[in-house]
Amino acid sequence: MVVASLKFQGVFLQDEPVRSLVNSLSKNKIFQTYLFLGSESVGKRRVAKAFAATLECLSPQPTNEGFWDCCEKCLSCKRILLDTHPDVTFLTPIGTEIRVDQVRRMHEMAFLNPFLGKWRIFIIDPADRLNEFSSNSLLKILEEAPPRVLFILLAKNPDRIVNTIKSRAVKIYFRSPSHQSARDTLYKIINRPPDEICMIYSACDGLFGMTLQHLSSQETFVQNQGKTLGESQVWYLSELGKIGAEFQNLFSHANSLEFAQKIFEGFKSVSPITLLLARKAFTREIALSPFLPAAFPTLFTKYLFEKIDRMKLEIRHQINSFLAGQKENYSSSLLKVVGEQFQQMIEDLGNRHVLDFFQSLLFWHSDFFRFKNTQDVTLLLNLDRKEDIMNLSRRHWATKKIECLKSLLSNFDLFAHNVNPTLILEDTLMRIGENIPWDVA
Ligand SMILES: [Zn+2]
Repeated sequence: MVVASLKFQGVFLQDEPVRSLVNSLSKNKIFQTYLFLGSESVGKRRVAKAFAATLECLSPQPTNEGFWDCCEKCLSCKRILLDTHPDVTFLTPIGTEIRVDQVRRMHEMAFLNPFLGKWRIFIIDPADRLNEFSSNSLLKILEEAPPRVLFILLAKNPDRIVNTIKSRAVKIYFRSPSHQSARDTLYKIINRPPDEICMIYSACDGLFGMTLQHLSSQETFVQNQGKTLGESQVWYLSELGKIGAEFQNLFSHANSLEFAQKIFEGFKSVSPITLLLARKAFTREIALSPFLPAAFPTLFTKYLFEKIDRMKLEIRHQINSFLAGQKENYSSSLLKVVGEQFQQMIEDLGNRHVLDFFQSLLFWHSDFFRFKNTQDVTLLLNLDRKEDIMNLSRRHWATKKIECLKSLLSNFDLFAHNVNPTLILEDTLMRIGENIPWDVA
């Protein structure tokens, strides 16, 4: 099993960023601001923590490769592993944005001497959530910050970082690995059967970090063969229906605002594996069906949004009662602000589930397209279902399926721009399901 590691040596599939950071460490040439660019789950936060740990480590160790890595054992390393190091601060959005008051607080902290280590390190994750005001405030700090203060900005979309910040930062690019190299790495480091690794990788829609987390757990995974469209829909909706209760279970341990926020963040970033497997089975049925029942798009969309509304209600209820119990510990104005931020996070979580469903459909169609063009199964995300994809390519309606990719892509774009999600989902399912005759051949 893979144990949570802090070391650079335990970073997978990101040799280039690691090389460039360990080089600057060995030359003792540390810049003030770094911008880590790359898509979700590629390891930006993991590498930022390794960098911070090596800088703060009380007893860095030489490696066989000739660079220095953190020891993972000293007080400093242990606290970084737990995100409780007094000199390593994470700045994450409250609601959807990183706000100016958060950055101002960081400003004050930047001028204090390091408490435990040699550096004051701020990890801004994700920096593409800074708004206009917080960006300006950050720029001011970058201009004034004393030496021994280090900023690591993590971002998916460089266009959302203002140029004046970008130009001050050393950029480190994180590339998304190919599906096959991600799977090959998982085969090497995870002691589970390759079939199972393949299945979980595709259920996680190729998110390496999330796959690793599920595969490293003690969970056993249920294969789900032979479910019909109807059965897999019931399964998916029922798994979605459990989210609210799971949240209540986790959140009942929250005993401070800070901890509550942390629980919510963790909950948002990793979906339960049963939900992921159910979603994959269901989107497979949709993608592979030669046609969909006429009433399906409207009915399913209605059920999906009902489930998500119910989930949001349950989570809201839990958060409201938690906040009501905190009246003695925090001022009412702070609780009001935090309450509003949580509402926004709940909305984000609901949208996220719709978006994930959409994306899973999109990935099936991209696989059809890839296989049709290359006949190379190693390029597939859903390698565990390669027979399905190969069989489909032999049907005469396969081209119609591939044409669906275009409407999926343009609808995905609309969805990301907050156009009415109910209408978009209905429209997408209608396009996938209509005008494709039975394959009688
Ligand atoms: Zn250490």
